[in-house]
Amino acid sequence: MTSPQLAPLPADDTEIDRALADAEWVPLLGTLAHLTGDLGVLRPELVPDPLLMREPKSGYTDEQQQLAHQVCLEALRRFRDDQGGVPARPDDAAIRSIMEFMAGMPIDDRYVPLLVEELALDGDHLRAPHWHRTELAPDRPFTVAIIGAGMSGIAAAHRLDQAGVDFVVFEKNDDVGGTWLENSYPGCRVDIQNHMYSYSFAQRHDWPRYFSPRDVLAEYFRDCAERFGLMDRIELSSEVRSLTWDEPSRTWLLEVEGPGGIREFRAHAVVSAVGQLNRPKYPDIEGVGTFAGPAFHTARWDHSVELTGKRVGIIGTGASACQVIPAIAGQVAELTVFQRTAPWQLPAPNYQLEVAPGLRWLFGHVPFYAQWYRCWLFWRGAESMMPFAVVDPDYPPTERAVSAANEEIRTLLVEWLRLMTDGEPGLFEKVLPDYPPFAKRFVVDDGSLLITYRQPHVHLETTPIERIEPGGVRTADGVLHECDVLIYGTGFQASDFLMPMRVVGRDGVELHDRWQGDARAYLGMMVPGFPNLFLLYGPNTNIVVNGSIIYYSECEVHYLVECVRLLLAEHLAALDVRPDVHDAYNERIDEANRLRTWGWSKVRSWYKNASGRTAQNWPFSVLEFWELTRSPNPDDYLLTALEPEPAGR
Ligand code: NAP
Repeated sequence: MTSPQLAPLPADDTEIDRALADAEWVPLLGTLAHLTGDLGVLRPELVPDPLLMREPKSGYTDEQQQLAHQVCLEALRRFRDDQGGVPARPDDAAIRSIMEFMAGMPIDDRYVPLLVEELALDGDHLRAPHWHRTELAPDRPFTVAIIGAGMSGIAAAHRLDQAGVDFVVFEKNDDVGGTWLENSYPGCRVDIQNHMYSYSFAQRHDWPRYFSPRDVLAEYFRDCAERFGLMDRIELSSEVRSLTWDEPSRTWLLEVEGPGGIREFRAHAVVSAVGQLNRPKYPDIEGVGTFAGPAFHTARWDHSVELTGKRVGIIGTGASACQVIPAIAGQVAELTVFQRTAPWQLPAPNYQLEVAPGLRWLFGHVPFYAQWYRCWLFWRGAESMMPFAVVDPDYPPTERAVSAANEEIRTLLVEWLRLMTDGEPGLFEKVLPDYPPFAKRFVVDDGSLLITYRQPHVHLETTPIERIEPGGVRTADGVLHECDVLIYGTGFQASDFLMPMRVVGRDGVELHDRWQGDARAYLGMMVPGFPNLFLLYGPNTNIVVNGSIIYYSECEVHYLVECVRLLLAEHLAALDVRPDVHDAYNERIDEANRLRTWGWSKVRSWYKNASGRTAQNWPFSVLEFWELTRSPNPDDYLLTALEPEPAGR
């Protein structure tokens, strides 16, 4: 799964010219400005319109495409024939110019170091730890326990390993990969493009598809764990039941249930990388459990159940169910989809496509194209979307749209729904959401879902469910929808962070008692009274505007590794975030989230906890998260000094 080496550009132009037909122009022009050192290739006529960035070929007109083809071919020839070799990373001013061109708008200087890091043009060294334990505290015993070997846990293990810090990973499953191991339902795939949904330190130029299916991702994460030499440090089938802070020794005592029974393990720091979306939520509907046939959750797919020729019911229309529905429709005799709230659908025409052959060829032959492409996706997918989610109090906000910009997106999304439901009476009304875009997570789709809904044996049922019975699902209009198999696409217990682990901090305080169902943390990572405990993908670190969650995990891992550095360099036994720092931070988060579509809208979503507070989402820019996680400020923490070694030891 490691990306193969790039091949040299051929001497003959024909192959290059042919491949260019599939090029994604904007990042290719950026790449060529880098490779030729000539910013002149970023022609003013080719600056993309930010609103059309998601359109094929960035919304270029035919004339723009012809010009881009000509400019790229000429620049590629120049680069090939120049014999100057692959140039080093451009200076910051050039990177900024290239990014501004790709974004189609001015970019703040503050972004440049972040983008340089994400690009990883000179390999991985920028985000990797710049220190080693042997230089700071060669003789000090210091072990980190990492809980979970999914995407975040693997990243944490890799970085700690690079810093020479001892660690053990406990993983409850019998393999690594987390969510990509557990979710095996038909149609399961990532809904963020893979060139972006991958580690900055393990980029691939040869992803077979734009959006990889689950198997490819599971293999990618396993390959990373193997390639970074982590597998020997991961204890599989080992579930951490509890962790308790032991003040006298300033260590965490873990109770781990594994193949050999229950054992205790002591660690100086703990990283929780347990994920958020892995404890299935079954609906609170009368009669759950009484269904006579096979019934299972999307995340616990029962592959022994044959769906061919069966009448299948599926409850829910979130991201999981909306991937299952088109994937099984061709197989079943009848499919009834029970929808409580219509999701907004974000069209992605290349959702199921293989990467176009020419584009793949260019990734495999043009140095840095895959990195610039990834960076372009990063910008397009994350930062550029945030303004559309901000509530404009002067608009005034309604459950239709929360700002003029939000309304603009709504119009585009409604157009898509109209187009795809044309000629199918009543379907448009059923699939039109009654809340503003961005209030819930989008369902990414290429039209398959709406095409599936138009099939005669597929029924989209919007009458509320009254109860589940042995024979099927009865709706409030009294109709029994008979089913042979029932699938719960009803999501996860996302607000119950770290459940069901028992986590006991200073003074015997249990974390879930402290949270009372309203999880909060400083930077999503640190909770007062729980020293040296770092949460990854913790409260308020979730993306909404479709950036990559891997980016957030990498920022968090960077921060926790820097905290370990602080502990070792300053001879500290414990870092415990100050309650006032934690509280002020959370007030700021809450205030901002109230003015984001997801916090403002009354719609039900897993972004909110039982008290209605947005406990999941990060309301600011990706830049701000990066800046806040550069390095710990010791003033934010109550610091406990390491006790001197008793004399004569
Ligand atoms: P979800 O978004 O929470 O969707 C759950 C669905 O079940 C909703 O449609 C919900 O309706 C419905 N539901 C829940 N309880 C119900 C009840 N009592 N009666 C009727 N309907 C009920 O869960 P998910 O689809 O598993 O997705 C969760 C998250 O996982 C996603 O948002 C995404 O972040 C991640 N995910 C990612 C991918 C990907 O990358 N491709 C794929 C799958 C999941 P309401 O909307 O009315 O609550």
